[in-house]
Amino acid sequence: MKIVTTPREVREAIDHEKKAGTRVGFVPTMGALHEGHVSLVRMARSRTGFVAASIFVNPKQFGPKEDLSRYPQTFDRDRRMLEDLGCDLLFHPDERSLYSSADRTRIAVDELSDVLCGASRTGHFHGVALVVAKLFNIVRPDEAYFGQKDAQQAVVIQRMSADLDFSVRIVLGPTVREADGLAMSSRNVYLDPAARAHAPAMYRSLREARARIESGERDPSPIVAMMKTAMRDAGFDVEYACAVDGATLKAIERIDGTVLIACAGRIGGTRLIDNVALRVSGASVEEILLEFPEWSRYA
Ligand code: AMP
Repeated sequence: MKIVTTPREVREAIDHEKKAGTRVGFVPTMGALHEGHVSLVRMARSRTGFVAASIFVNPKQFGPKEDLSRYPQTFDRDRRMLEDLGCDLLFHPDERSLYSSADRTRIAVDELSDVLCGASRTGHFHGVALVVAKLFNIVRPDEAYFGQKDAQQAVVIQRMSADLDFSVRIVLGPTVREADGLAMSSRNVYLDPAARAHAPAMYRSLREARARIESGERDPSPIVAMMKTAMRDAGFDVEYACAVDGATLKAIERIDGTVLIACAGRIGGTRLIDNVALRVSGASVEEILLEFPEWSRYA
């Protein structure tokens, strides 16, 4: 695996592959890799001839009171994991390789960025959209892989890529979970034993939501109320629990079509998020990934 730190080095490596007609797959990450990331790299490996990953803790997606300075950094371990997975190229830039004080360009994905997690994390999705757009321009992947775990991020990136005509196919991977259902996250290391023990309540509430929908419930209100109560009872400080349209992220009055059931909350000071996406049609309820290839002109 080649490790590079500058956009120019990435371009050279990718140019070489493109000339040979090789399809390029790309997995952007912030490092502190776990099985969720691993599943995306495996997917890239199985679908494309050249796999690039990036590790960059993007300061522009952290708020002033967020955990940028203590975000877990495990580079040597990450590097070995990527190597073992057969990753071909690791892009590990420092901040100055991607940003300069002269930069003036922002990317705002309207309406999708200030709801759900964006309501409390002001500017977060602008930072995400900007770094992903830059990485797409540097790597020029044929496919890029993102986790359903960060559902809003996945929707924002698919909208941004379609709106800006990136010719990349966005592929989602399912949320990888611990045995007790807790969604894997680099931030789970912040959980103390008591918080860790109670954290799976979040996913249990999502499973209960799904079960109620399978039993025929189509009104979001009692489902959302149940989720908030279950999370509070487990010790969560609930930030939101909601049922929204999976494509627009707008609140819905009836559970039907492509639906995202999502929640966020703090437990023992650590902020956790989770979701399930469902396609509901008549009595049929199917768990899905929030992929919208039809948004792209290059689908
Ligand atoms: P991060 O390093 O947290 O920025 O995540 C990098 C990528 O891994 C994003 O596309 C995430 O959605 C994805 N990811 C993070 N956790 C999981 C998980 N538990 N299952 C699947 N994908 C995940």
